[in-house]
Amino acid sequence: MSRDKKLNEIIQYIDFLEEVFGDIAFTIDEKIEKRKEESKREDKAEKKFGEKKEKGEEKKKEEEGKREEEDKKKKSIFDSIVKECYSLPEPWVAIKEEKTHLLRDIADRIRACKRCPLWEKRKNAVPGDGNPSAEIVFVGEAPGYEEDKKGKPFVGKSGKLLETLIKEEIGLDRSSVFITNVVRCRPPENRMPEKKEIEACSPYLFEEINAIKPKIVVALGSPAAKVLIGRDEKISEMRGNFYKRPEFEVFVTFHPAYAIRNPSQIEVMREDFKKIKEFLRSE
Ligand code: SF4
Repeated sequence: MSRDKKLNEIIQYIDFLEEVFGDIAFTIDEKIEKRKEESKREDKAEKKFGEKKEKGEEKKKEEEGKREEEDKKKKSIFDSIVKECYSLPEPWVAIKEEKTHLLRDIADRIRACKRCPLWEKRKNAVPGDGNPSAEIVFVGEAPGYEEDKKGKPFVGKSGKLLETLIKEEIGLDRSSVFITNVVRCRPPENRMPEKKEIEACSPYLFEEINAIKPKIVVALGSPAAKVLIGRDEKISEMRGNFYKRPEFEVFVTFHPAYAIRNPSQIEVMREDFKKIKEFLRSE
């Protein structure tokens, strides 16, 4: 091979190498550029994700804060309800209101009642009156002239004596007890109520007792004692005794009107009222 031919071959080889390595270099540059761009995109995506994550955490914190606030509010409402209930003067005002509501309903029905002929001559029917949460219920016979006029039980002379005995022997005011009768309309000329009248009217008495749920029911006189203990005995035999009924205790004493007519019996009634006080203390 001549010298020129050899040189030509070398130049061609160099051109070939330039061509090949030039492409490779270009490819590498392109790849580096591409990689840079990809890396930039990745950085951007990461940044975005970080921001999103940060925002998510902030939102989560905000929601947790709101939840805590609501829980605090709920707790304070609950606490105030509990505090209110436990600071009530009566065991539960709700129960007292329920009793009041029941007694009002009974009284309304009594005022409109026509179950027996006594309604025809009444000025006012006389429902029970007093404390719906009373521990003692006093039960008389029937309204008299004053009660018929005022629509309230025991407001005449008998009422005064009863109030005195309650105050002096038991130590309570009239407003602490509940006072009612077996019959709620005045019998003509203050006669004794008849059996039929008692049968027609006494369910109201048991409704009142059931609403109040007292510790003791005091029968004042014979008709009340017979209805409450369910026996047809003489008052002289029942007086001064306690009778246990499934729902409450009954104690029998004279009617104050009887003691007014027979003043020597007032002392007997005083002794009876002392027994009532003893009973309440022992409960
Ligand atoms: S006495 Fe009793 S039963 Fe008779 S009308 Fe009056 S409320 Fe009704």
